[in-house]
Amino acid sequence: MKSSKHIKILGAGISGLTAAINLAKSGYKVEIFEKQKEVGKRFHGDFQGLSNKTDPLDALEGLVSCNIAVNFPYTPLCNVTLTNGKKKYDITFKKPLHYIVRRGPFPGTLDYCLKEQALDCGITIHFKETLLPEDVDIIATGPIPGNIPAAARGIVFSSSSKNLAVAVCNDDLAYKGYSYLLVVNGHGCMATVVFNELKRLEECFKMTKEYFTSTYDLNMTEPSPMGGVGSFCRNPKYRIGNALCIGEAAGLQDFVAGFGMRYAFQSGYLAAESIIHGFDYAAAAKDTFSRKLKACIVNRWLWETALNHHDYSLLLDIINLTANRADHTPHQFNPLQRILYPFALNYIKKQYHFLES
Ligand SMILES: Cc1cc2nc3c(=O)[nH]c(=O)nc-3n(C[C@H](O)[C@H](O)[C@H](O)COP(=O)(O)OP(=O)(O)OC[C@H]3O[C@@H](n4cnc5c(N)ncnc54)[C@H](O)[C@@H]3O)c2cc1C
Repeated sequence: MKSSKHIKILGAGISGLTAAINLAKSGYKVEIFEKQKEVGKRFHGDFQGLSNKTDPLDALEGLVSCNIAVNFPYTPLCNVTLTNGKKKYDITFKKPLHYIVRRGPFPGTLDYCLKEQALDCGITIHFKETLLPEDVDIIATGPIPGNIPAAARGIVFSSSSKNLAVAVCNDDLAYKGYSYLLVVNGHGCMATVVFNELKRLEECFKMTKEYFTSTYDLNMTEPSPMGGVGSFCRNPKYRIGNALCIGEAAGLQDFVAGFGMRYAFQSGYLAAESIIHGFDYAAAAKDTFSRKLKACIVNRWLWETALNHHDYSLLLDIINLTANRADHTPHQFNPLQRILYPFALNYIKKQYHFLES
């Protein structure tokens, strides 16, 4: 570390702010260097889900365990329509599937509320400033260019529709991914998430928009574009030189659906703890995340091969059957996934050869 009580962080996303808040609460002087003029500039007022399926601990309890206050608006998502365009399930989850939050650079978003927590802890954020990676203690700069297996394209809008949550698995609308429509209290968001063949993004978004606008009475006004990319590493880089890498900058991401927020909170917290208590962050992060990342590889392989039979009909059936089963642990690298892992890895290495090992 550069200095025992003075920490410099590159990037004011979820992971960087989480690390900063924890360090500041332990008496460290923390400076964040953020290249944009505000937090959350990567996002556009779109909705994202804090997933309750990717980790056994409730997502909000998970935040509290990372010393993050729930000072942002959220909506528990329990009722979801799941379809492939032909078959349709209306599923009620007993425990919320996600807590829906808004992302972006303005008040009421997760990003803005995290910034307020950071400022309250006395953290200095230098906006429109950057440093070289070798001059910081923590790198939290988000997606790794060139290591991008997935991309999203969509719109946010205002709507007079009732609240809605719809997910579509169909390769025409979302190649090897999924499309989603969310309307929460007058705000709407629809997008396609495409894997591997990102050149299909525009075509898939066109089909997604046609599908949702022709199926639901959205009464859309003020549409504006949203979207972005997600990076994933089979073997995350937890350290570059002396700097600790956290969040997507380490390659931490859910390879199945692109749900990277919980990884960002957890890795930010773990990096701060390693500095405060003097343990090896890379070893602790490997211990915490490697089984989940391996489970993602198996799940992505299954998604793209066995489960997409009959337009993902089998995948829909399985999600419907297991929606409320506590013993269904597809994110925990269960014994069946351990057996399947070598086959999945072989497939992913071929299909996603551009991903760094
Ligand atoms: C459209 C879309 C939908 C998503 N939906 C979900 C969802 O529903 N659920 C979920 O869990 N996840 C979702 N994700 C993923 C999730 O948003 C990310 O995984 C998470 O925000 C990553 O946090 P981070 O701190 O690693 O990086 P980021 O949030 O990307 O923060 C990185 C910060 O670093 C700054 N920065 C970059 N380079 C530099 C530099 N050189 N110098 C200084 N600053 C720099 C950036 O400006 C940015 O502010 C979605 C992503 C996208 C794009």
